[in-house]
This record gives sequence, structure tokens and C-alpha cells, in this order.
Amino acid sequence: MQDSAVRRNLQVLSLAAWVLVALNAVHIAVFGLLTFDEPVRDGWARQIATAHGAMAVVMALTGWLARRLHARPVLPIVGRILPLAVSAVVLAWAIVLTVMDQAVSSSVNPYVNAAVGVAIVLLLRPSTMVGLMGMAWVALAWVLGGTTDDPAVLATNRMNAASATALAILVSILFWRHYARTELLQRALAESNRQLEAQRAELEALATRDPLTGLLNRREFVRQAEHELARARRLGAPLSLIMLDLDHFKTINDRHGHAVGDEVLRQTARHMAGSTRQTDRVARFGGEEFVLLLPDTSAEQAWHLADKLREGLARVCIPTLGVPVTASLGVASVLGTESVTLEAVLHRADQAMYEAKRSGRNRTVVAADAGTGAA
Ligand code: GH3
Ligand code: MG
Ligand code: MG
Repeated sequence: MQDSAVRRNLQVLSLAAWVLVALNAVHIAVFGLLTFDEPVRDGWARQIATAHGAMAVVMALTGWLARRLHARPVLPIVGRILPLAVSAVVLAWAIVLTVMDQAVSSSVNPYVNAAVGVAIVLLLRPSTMVGLMGMAWVALAWVLGGTTDDPAVLATNRMNAASATALAILVSILFWRHYARTELLQRALAESNRQLEAQRAELEALATRDPLTGLLNRREFVRQAEHELARARRLGAPLSLIMLDLDHFKTINDRHGHAVGDEVLRQTARHMAGSTRQTDRVARFGGEEFVLLLPDTSAEQAWHLADKLREGLARVCIPTLGVPVTASLGVASVLGTESVTLEAVLHRADQAMYEAKRSGRNRTVVAADAGTGAA
């Protein structure tokens, strides 16, 4: 909470400081041009112009610094203390002006303006504001004692300053409470948005991914493959499918248990996902059956990839097995010009995979009607 309040203060200061510089400039012009016959009044006008000149320099530096610090991702300590330091400097300056003014008037207007101005422009913690304003009022009340012998003037000045101090504290507390409430609401909103987004992502993963391997599930694969097939047809580009079925997987399960069987499935999935392009789609199609969709890939290219996958699978290391994992693969391709359903291409790949099983397993077969024949 404190950090966002400081940032908001720096942002406001980067503008408000220049407004004060403009006000200082007007005062310098007015009091610099004013001349009086009386030396006391003439001296007073010079003092006021000089005080505004000094403040203009301080405020220009503040505006420049606040703008630079506000943009920083991590606020340095000078950024954290700047709003409080500026408040203290402005109040001290206003006390000096108020004391100077006693030469020509008995008002405490500079102090009133500064106190209410700080309360309106900057967001300070109520405790900080009470401490700062309390100290400012005590200092002003004390120095005012040296400016007049008239107890009535002194009393009215001190009391007017006390009212302005109380008003400034009240305004500041109201602003702080409003800010704190808004900030809390915004945080709650951001948190519930984050949770909603996480839930949406989780639901999407549940609906589209296979929980064991993290690959696409069958339904999502079919949805994406239909889209790719339509695209291939529109562009006249080739497209291939590889169906992969692990050999004697039932035996692996029976001999080593389901947990080892699951690990084989995970490793196979990782191997397949790691051997394909970003634009390819890999899915777990059934129990120990996987399918790969390769856009812009001819039957020959698909056969090369399928056989590389098959050879690589033997290197997938599962220590407890003792023997390499093997698979039978079927490849089916369509040319862009062919009008064929996804179901038909899947069927061709499936047939080729069963042909690989029939001819001894641990091999790759390309569907005959894709043009290349068995490999
Ligand atoms: P083939 O070489 O002819 O493909 O023989 P196979 O044993 O691989 O084929 P079969 O279809 O007879 O057996 C598949 C086995 O896959 C049976 C089933 O218990 C197992 N299976 C299916 N889903 C899972 C799973 O999620 N985890 C594990 N561990 N096993 C599974
Ligand atoms: Mg099998
Ligand atoms: Mg099977």
C-alpha cells in the first residue's frame, strides 16, 4: 500500500511542483516590481520576492526529480522520502513567509495555504500528517510570539493557524481513507482476476490435454487436425499423419506394473514432443497409441521422421525395463488437392500401423495409397 501511495505522490509532484514554480514566478514579478517609500515595506517586498525565488528553484528540482523517480521500477530511498521532505520544506517555507508578512499584516495566510495545499496534493499517512502538521503549528505558534506585542493579534493568528492545521489533518485523513479503500478493492479485483485466469487455464488444460503425458487429448487433436486439413486443402499443401503404437505394452504392464507402464508412456510422449516442430501436433490417441500431425510434410518426409522416432524410442531409457521400448508406426499423407476426410486419413495411418504389427513390429509402414508403399 505504502509503495503505491509514494508512486502516486511522485506522479502528482511531477506536475504540482511546476504549478508552484509558476505561482512563485508570479509572486517574484509582483513583489519584485513593487516599490515603497517606507524602507520596512520595501524590505518586506524584496524578502518575499527572494523567498519565492528560492522556492521556485527547490520546486523545479522537485518536479524534475519526481518525474525521474516515478518511472523507476524499484523506488530508491530518495524517492520514498521525497514527498514527506517536500511537505516539510513547503510548511517551513510558509512559516517563514508568514513571519515576514507580520511586517505588513497580521494574517497567517501563507501557512493556511501551505497546510491545506499539502493535505490536498499529497497522500500521507494520518499518523505522519498529524506529526508533521503538529510540529509545523508548534513552530509557527512559537515564532509568531516574537512578531507582536499585541496578545489579541497573537491569539487570533495562533488560533487561525490551529484551525487550518486541524482542517488540513481532517482533509488528509479523508483522502487517505478513500485511497486505502480504493487500493484494497483494486487489489481484491486483481487477485480474483488472477484466480479466474488460473481456473480458466486449468479448465482449458483439463479439456484439451491428456493428464498423464500432457499431450493433446484425442478430442482436441481431432479439432486441430480438422482445421489443419482444411488449411492444407485451401493452400494445396501436403499433410501427413503418423500413428504410433507401443509394442507388447501389455507385457510391460504385466511384468513391471502399471507405474512403470505409465512412466514408459510419459517418456514416449516426451520423446515425440521433443522430436517434432512447433507447428506439428502430438496427441495421445488412446491407451498406448499416439498420433502426430505434420502440416506441410510429404509422405517421404513423414516416413523419415517416423523412422527417426522409432529408432530414438529404443534409446528412451527406463532402467527397470532392461529391454528397449519399441513401437510400430503407420504413416498416411494427403496431397493438398485431395478431397479426403480426417477420418479417412486416420484410418489409413491406422491400417499402415497394423501392417507394421503384422510384419513383425518395431517398424514403420507408409500407407500404400499415399503413393510410397511399405517401407
Ligand atoms: P501390441 O504390440 O499388439 O500393440 O500389443 P500391446 O500389448 O501393446 O497391445 P494391447 O492393446 O493388447 O495392450 C495395450 C495395453 O495398454 C493394455 C492396457 O492395460 C495398457 N494401457 C492402456 N492405457 C494405459 C495407461 O494409461 N497406463 C498404463 N500403464 N497402461 C495402459
Ligand atoms: Mg500396443
Ligand atoms: Mg494399442
